Amino acid sequence: MSRALNFYAGPAALPLEVLEEAQKELLDFHGDGVSVMEMSHRSKTFDEVITTAQANVKKVLGLGDDYETLFLGGGASTQFAMIPYNFLKEGLVANYIDTGSWSTNAIKESKKLGETNVIASSADKDFSYIPKDFKVDSNAAYLHYTSNNTIRGTQYHFIPDAGNAPLVCDMSSDFMSKEMDYSKFSLIYAGAQKNVGPSGVAVVVIKKDMLSRIREGDLLTMLNYNTHVNKNSMFNTPPCFPLYIVGLVMKWILNKGGLKAIEKMNDEKANVIYGAIDNSDGYYRGTAAQDSRSKMNVTFRLPNEDLEKKMIAEAAERKMLGLKGHRSVGGLRASIYNATSLDAVSALADFMKEFKSKN
Ligand SMILES: *Cc1c(COP(=O)(O)O)cnc(C)c1O
Repeated sequence: MSRALNFYAGPAALPLEVLEEAQKELLDFHGDGVSVMEMSHRSKTFDEVITTAQANVKKVLGLGDDYETLFLGGGASTQFAMIPYNFLKEGLVANYIDTGSWSTNAIKESKKLGETNVIASSADKDFSYIPKDFKVDSNAAYLHYTSNNTIRGTQYHFIPDAGNAPLVCDMSSDFMSKEMDYSKFSLIYAGAQKNVGPSGVAVVVIKKDMLSRIREGDLLTMLNYNTHVNKNSMFNTPPCFPLYIVGLVMKWILNKGGLKAIEKMNDEKANVIYGAIDNSDGYYRGTAAQDSRSKMNVTFRLPNEDLEKKMIAEAAERKMLGLKGHRSVGGLRASIYNATSLDAVSALADFMKEFKSKN
């Protein structure tokens, strides 16, 4: 077996230990004689899987009993709609910061559901930076932002101040990548397939006091957060297998030493790859502003598109996968999530040096 060096943006690399554990348990889960995919989600065995995973999500984030963990279908994209659908009441205005594609999509949904104010945007410079000046409306239903911009390669290195408004964050592509005061957030959501699991499940961490802010009226059952909180994510059949893998990733993070250790690794990896860009005499050009660079998705250009194509092709020959930039922006993108090793990143940095000297 030879595993590739995985730089895909999502679905993305999973820890080898997690895959091996899942493989080991696949045919006979904890002595039940069936896989975790083949048992009732109402069974005692599965109940243990989901409640442990939920508890460990909060443990990793350092959150307590005032938060609930939900595992929902529909990806992060369904959360774009659920958030305004639940919290954007008459008389309030949803506040958003627009930092490119994903936040733009979130804003689009909010506008369909009520008054929406984009209080800051980096559209003026092609979403290459994180805006720092903004003022939250006094009647804000919430402030929503995207902590890491998977496509543009930018990331917040601070927590925006939402004032009295609840802070809501799409953390899909840097969820659990670093230590932070997660108790500042009223709602965090993440499509698991970037940093904490396979596709098919969105992890939603919601502060209990947010539930009292859900608007009155007869909300659609599946789009109402209360439905899922009241039934502990088991109102309907949850994405059993994906959330089981998320549970294994939680254990992996805790075994590594939690987010402090994870952050240290991620910092090292980012230093190596941005070092390769910055020490290339301008051959490689990072597309994000220095202070807004993402430690998860490293976006860069070469002197021309032919060289970009050549580099992606030669990288693939060396089993370095997923380096093509998003189709909407071009260039190259190396996604270096939690499960991508420092060795893989160093190998890429070495290849970048070699490619430059030969081309
Ligand atoms: C990938 C991604 C999404 C979309 O996630 P889906 O699960 O495919 O809906 C949303 N936001 C960010 C920041 C992402 O990276």
